[in-house]
Amino acid sequence: MKIILLGPPGAGKGTQAKSISIRKNISENTPLGIEAKKYIDNGQLVPDQVTIDMVKDRLQHDDCENGYLLDGFPRTVSQAEALQEFLQKRKESLDTALCIEVPRDFILERMTGRRVCPSCGASYHIKFNPPIEGKCELCGSDVVQRKDDTEETVKERLDVYERQTQPLIDFYKERELLSTVDGTKAINEVFESICTILGEPV
Ligand code: ADP
Ligand code: ZN
Repeated sequence: MKIILLGPPGAGKGTQAKSISIRKNISENTPLGIEAKKYIDNGQLVPDQVTIDMVKDRLQHDDCENGYLLDGFPRTVSQAEALQEFLQKRKESLDTALCIEVPRDFILERMTGRRVCPSCGASYHIKFNPPIEGKCELCGSDVVQRKDDTEETVKERLDVYERQTQPLIDFYKERELLSTVDGTKAINEVFESICTILGEPV
């Protein structure tokens, strides 16, 4: 399947992407590329053309043949247009653009309590998904707090999201590719809703 994940910073995209890809790899034994991930570390967007070229290049690797899950791309309407064009040329299409909906007031607590694994990128939360003894459960590394997960940068990233990325929701809605889940629920409930949308087995 070809899926893109949408939703504000802190919605839980990374968290769900990990579960989806793990389940998928187990059930189908296919490599699922989670790529184009988190280009942004300081609240700004990488220039469109740079990003588009990187992603196009990556999507042509063999491990993308059976599908991929994009988290963090596209982030602007012109990136979304470039992706549509790329897919059309290859006579391919997205299965869905899945938006994890979380209102702005939930996000600050999620982001300031976030811990990440520097080795494999897994996301944890000091309250909602605490890492056991500060270690990543997937690879055993010590989890860390990202420098930009502070109140000021989170606000800045939310503003960038609202200006540049939120318009993608309409973009995919118009093309009948949008699906949405309520991202305010617990992690496993969100995952169940996603499984239902994607159809079993995920
Ligand atoms: P994104 O990739 O969308 O920016 P993350 O997956 O990194 O977001 O999640 C942001 C933070 O919120 C992390 O600390 C994560 O553990 C936590 N989180 C994710 N989903 C939920 C949820 N459904 N309920 C509570 N906390 C969550
Ligand atoms: Zn890890």
